Amino acid sequence: MKIESRLAQIGSQKDTVTGAVSFPIYQATAFRHPGLGESTGFDYARTKSPTRAVLEEAVAEIESGDAAFACSSGMAALQTVFAYFSSGDHLIVSLDLYGGTYRLLERIMKRFGVTATYVDTNDLDQLGASLTSNTKAILIETPTNPLMMITDIAKVSTWAKSKGLLTIVDNTLLTPYFQRPLELGADIVIHSASKYLAGHNDVLAGLIITKGEELSAEMAFLHNSIGAVLGPQDSFLLARGMKTLALRMERHQSNATAIAKFLQTHEAIAEVFYPALPEHPGHSIQQGQSSGNTGIFSFKVKDARYVAPILSSVKLIAFAESLGGVESLMTYPAVQTHADIPEEIRQAIGVDDRLLRFSVGIEHVDDLIADLDQALKFAMQEVAALQN
Ligand SMILES: *Cc1c(COP(=O)(O)O)cnc(C)c1O
Repeated sequence: MKIESRLAQIGSQKDTVTGAVSFPIYQATAFRHPGLGESTGFDYARTKSPTRAVLEEAVAEIESGDAAFACSSGMAALQTVFAYFSSGDHLIVSLDLYGGTYRLLERIMKRFGVTATYVDTNDLDQLGASLTSNTKAILIETPTNPLMMITDIAKVSTWAKSKGLLTIVDNTLLTPYFQRPLELGADIVIHSASKYLAGHNDVLAGLIITKGEELSAEMAFLHNSIGAVLGPQDSFLLARGMKTLALRMERHQSNATAIAKFLQTHEAIAEVFYPALPEHPGHSIQQGQSSGNTGIFSFKVKDARYVAPILSSVKLIAFAESLGGVESLMTYPAVQTHADIPEEIRQAIGVDDRLLRFSVGIEHVDDLIADLDQALKFAMQEVAALQN
């Protein structure tokens, strides 16, 4: 069955009691046992809960994994996966990393003796140079956020396997609709499902998908032991959002591509970072390993003084953090999402004071372009007035 059909039908044939096509929200935390030593399959909701189980089963199948675990946020999913490691273990991690993941590793995991080295994960020489006898895994984001750097998942996971390392991919930006890292050799996929999967800027959720019996059993143990699990209401909302994932991703992609091309030729813009563009350094790898492009990209304005007037004059586009929802949001990574990443790392990778990130929604592309154009023109006028 094609992925569009699986997505649209999440849970629709699972309620055999009433035949409900929308699987119900089971709010119960406790489940009656038929007798001593007997169970309906459900005992206590942290371990397994019906609405969450329907979501997890569908997600495992859609990401081509053996098991999936729904967590209370993307960060909860990352923390649960990091709990797989022990004091003394070392990780190799993508350089242009989600700020919250960097903070979790540097401010918390480090205190527990788990350390990380940040490198360009597409460079095998850098990977080799950062390998130690305690390295246990490599964590990649592709594309990265906000700079849209691309890593070749098959190449890196082949290398990781040869060194006995696990490959973990944060697949938030492309979703399984466009990219399935487990099919390319990765062992664990993580999502902030708060973004494209839920899709409506109204659910906080995370997902872990594992490949292999042993790893899946260990992750089930960690998920239940740590307990940062997704509640029944949010499990329902996430599954409901995912039913339209295919339609939304197609629109996010076409809108983002048209707007990135519009910005490339705009006089206020210095550079556009979007892997769908043929000029992007990761373009061919990205097209080879995924079937489409994300709806988020970043761009640099020519003058840092444009930033404030742009953000205050966009109307349809909201100045807000987060990404992946139906509503268009624009943010300023240097002072918001990436504020926890040290200045020298931000400068080295290019997250500077001229960079804006745009999560393109599913509104009509003409309206989005008109809104951007008026904001850019206003910013240019404001800065020109300062000079006169
Ligand atoms: C948002 C995000 C996270 C964190 O997820 P939350 O759901 O906000 O906890 C992790 N990784 C990436 C790439 C993200 O965009």
